[in-house]
Amino acid sequence: MTFAATILTLYPEMFPGPLGVSLAGRALDEGKWSLGTVQIRDFAADRHRTVDDTPAGGGAGMVLKADVLAAAIDHARAAQPDAPVLAMTPRGKPISQARIRELAAGPGVTILCGRFEGFDERIFEGRDVEEVSVGDIVLSGGEPAALMILDACIRLLPGVMGAASSGTEESFEEGLLEYPHYTRPQEWEGRTIPEVLRSGDHAKIAAWRKAMSEDHTRLRRPDLWERHSGVRDRSASGARQENEDQGQ
Ligand code: SAH
Repeated sequence: MTFAATILTLYPEMFPGPLGVSLAGRALDEGKWSLGTVQIRDFAADRHRTVDDTPAGGGAGMVLKADVLAAAIDHARAAQPDAPVLAMTPRGKPISQARIRELAAGPGVTILCGRFEGFDERIFEGRDVEEVSVGDIVLSGGEPAALMILDACIRLLPGVMGAASSGTEESFEEGLLEYPHYTRPQEWEGRTIPEVLRSGDHAKIAAWRKAMSEDHTRLRRPDLWERHSGVRDRSASGARQENEDQGQ
């Protein structure tokens, strides 16, 4: 089964863009994933092909029209009924590696890219659309966000990354940041590679990497660390917790 990506955009020429080169580009050439773009403007109902209008209540910028967006979404969904529809918006749920894994395991994804001030809010009531953010930053359009999400999915598809890196040791996969990497030369500008990595002692190396991974996560991402240690504590006290619950 080929992972099928459909992008709803006012700028289809932005695709495949960076996904046409390297790993993703090769996989695209080999048919490991497919890409289709839908020009949102083709679903405008008027002679001028209008896709946006001024914001109700006033203010700067333009808002993408719900009727035009709905027609574009319905078109994509008819072509690929099983693919989830993701709308790119800073107001959405932050994307996670766990969600990326789910998407990559499915039939594909349809991604709606906003522009200007964004979407008429009613589209999220009228259509089954998942609002997704790629971080607490504001882009000028949803296209780079869509490229990010696709890139993250594509590298997980079977046969894309090769056996060497199944991706399971990577940042976020265990709820932690990854340990640091080093490569030759052994000394660079007076800085050396940590001795343990040259010891050849695999158990020691694994322990060092785990400790680094935990230290870095605790220091750099207290939010991730809190969630990680919460899960760990819960599973350690899982049996006791269950007994307490039953007693209530
Ligand atoms: N007025 C909006 C921002 C619009 S930016 C607000 O303040 O929330 C224009 C478009 O860029 C959005 O419709 C969305 O599709 C895309 N975009 C911007 N930032 C994004 C982010 N962090 N994640 C996903 N999409 C984003």
